[in-house]
Amino acid sequence: MTSGNKTYISELKNNVAQEVTLTGWLYNSRASGKIQFLIIRDGTGLCQCIVEKGNVPDELFEQLKHLGQESSLTVTGTVRAEERSVGGYELAVTNAEIISPATDYPITPKSHGTDFLLKNRHLHLRSQRQWCIGKIRHTVIDAIRRFFNDNSFTLIDTPILMSMAGEDQQSLFEVDYFGTPMFLTQTGQLHLESAAMSFGKVYCFGPTFRAEKSKTRRHLTEFWMVEPEVAFIDLTGLLELAENFVSFITAQVLETNRSELETLGADIASLEKIQPPFYRLTYTEAVDILTGQKTKDFLAKELQELQNQKQQIETKISELENKQTGQLKQWQKDKIAAELIELRSDISEVDTKIENNPKHAKLAAEFQWGKDLGGSDETIISQMHDKPVFVTHYPREAKAFYMKTDRNNEEVVLNFDLLAPAGFGEIIGGSVREDDHDRLVARIKDQGLDIENYNWYLDLRKYGSVPHGGFGLGVERTITWLTGEKHIRQCIPFPRLMDKVYI
Ligand code: ATP
Ligand code: MN
Repeated sequence: MTSGNKTYISELKNNVAQEVTLTGWLYNSRASGKIQFLIIRDGTGLCQCIVEKGNVPDELFEQLKHLGQESSLTVTGTVRAEERSVGGYELAVTNAEIISPATDYPITPKSHGTDFLLKNRHLHLRSQRQWCIGKIRHTVIDAIRRFFNDNSFTLIDTPILMSMAGEDQQSLFEVDYFGTPMFLTQTGQLHLESAAMSFGKVYCFGPTFRAEKSKTRRHLTEFWMVEPEVAFIDLTGLLELAENFVSFITAQVLETNRSELETLGADIASLEKIQPPFYRLTYTEAVDILTGQKTKDFLAKELQELQNQKQQIETKISELENKQTGQLKQWQKDKIAAELIELRSDISEVDTKIENNPKHAKLAAEFQWGKDLGGSDETIISQMHDKPVFVTHYPREAKAFYMKTDRNNEEVVLNFDLLAPAGFGEIIGGSVREDDHDRLVARIKDQGLDIENYNWYLDLRKYGSVPHGGFGLGVERTITWLTGEKHIRQCIPFPRLMDKVYI
C-alpha cells in the first residue's frame, strides 16, 4: 500500500494540504506532454488528480499514461482546493499503484444507443448519470422511511405471493405454487387494511409486480411501491398526508442531492416550489377543463411551440453538419458526432409530440364523463399546473371495488390521483375504503369477483369497522419526476420492462 491517509473523495474537504490516498477507478484521463489529468471515481465522487513528470517515478508516469478507462488503482497526493475542478478539490499526485488494469472498456465517454447501454447496465451503473440517480433513489427511500417512522406509522411487511387480485385481473403475474396458481403482489393494500385495524397507522414498502401490457415511459413490470394505510381518516386527511409526504421527500432530495440534480439537469427551481398546499380538482372539474376552450387553446399553443422548437433544432443540426466538413481534430469530430446523435434524438421526440398533439386534442375534446382519465388527459391537466394537483371523486364504475362511494353522490368514489406537475402525470393513487359490509359485498359481486376469496377482508367490516384509507406512491415514478429523466427504466438499477429484460 502507498503512504498517506486512506480517505474518500467526499471527505477531501477535511484534508486540504495533507497527503492522502484514494482508492478507485480511472474514470477519464488526458495527457499533455509532461502533465496528466486523471479523473478518479471512488463511489463517493469524482476527483481530478494531477500527475507531473518528475513528481512520480518515470516508469509510473509512463504506466499511468497508458492506463485504460475503469482500471482500478490507488493514488496518493496532496489535496488542494480548486474551484474549477470537479468536486472542488484536486490531488497533486506523488505516487500511485495500479490494482487491476482494464483495457477496451466498452462504454466510452462518447454517446451510445439506449439498447447498448441497457445490455451493459452492469457496467453502465458506473456512469455519472446512473450514479447520480442511484444517490437520489437512496435519499428518496430514506426519506420515505423517515417520514412514516417520524409520524408514528408502524412498518408492516405484506406478502408477495397472493391468492387473489388486489388490482385489475389483467395485469397479474401467475406463479405455480406447488401445483396451485398464485400471483405476485400488485399491492399490499388489502392485507395492510387488516394491520391498520391493529396498529392504527401502518405502511408497507416493497417490490410490486404488474404484467403491464403496454409499453410506456412510465411503466415497469417490477417496481417499488410504498403504501400507508390509516384508521379513522377521511379524504381531506389523506390529501394532507400525501402533500406533506411528497413535499418532505422533495425537500430531502433538494437538501441532500443538489449537485446530483444539477448534473442531471433537473428543474431545481420547480422542485423548490413543491410545498403544501397542492392544487385540488374533482374529476368532474378535470373533465370540464379537458372538454373546454382552455384545453383547445393550450394544445394549439403547445403545437406552435413544438414547431418552433423543431425549427431551432434543425438549424443547429445543419450548423454542425457544415462544421463537420472542416479541418478538425479527432476529439472535435467525436464531440460533434455525439452532439448530432443527441439532437437527432431530440428531433424525433419533438416529432412524436407534434404527431400526438391533434390526437390528444381529439381525445380530450371528446372525453365522456365516466371513463378513467387516460395518460394524455393526465398529461394535459398536469401541464397546466406548476405544483402537483390532486384529482378526486372519480366515477365509481371506473374504479376498484374497495373504494368508498361518496354518500352525497353515489356515482363517484372518495379517491384521488396525485399528478406531478409540468406534464409528468400520476405518482400516487389512493382512496377511502368502503367500510360498510353489505355495500362492499355488492361491489365485489358487481365486479364479478369471487366472494369466497374476500371473506377475511369482509371480516374487517364485521368486527369494529371504521372509516379508513390510504394510498400508494410509486418510487421509480417519483424519481423519474424529480430527476427529469425521460424514461422510468433509468430510475431502477436493473429494470424489468414488458418488451425486454436485459440483465
Ligand atoms: P397508471 O394509471 O399510471 O398505470 P395505476 O392507476 O395503475 O397507475 P395505482 O394502482 O394507483 O396506479 O398504483 C399506485 C402508484 O404506483 C401509481 O401512482 C404509480 O406511481 C405506481 N405505479 C403503478 N403502476 C406502475 C408501473 N407499472 N410501473 C411503475 N410504477 C407504477
Ligand atoms: Mn396501471
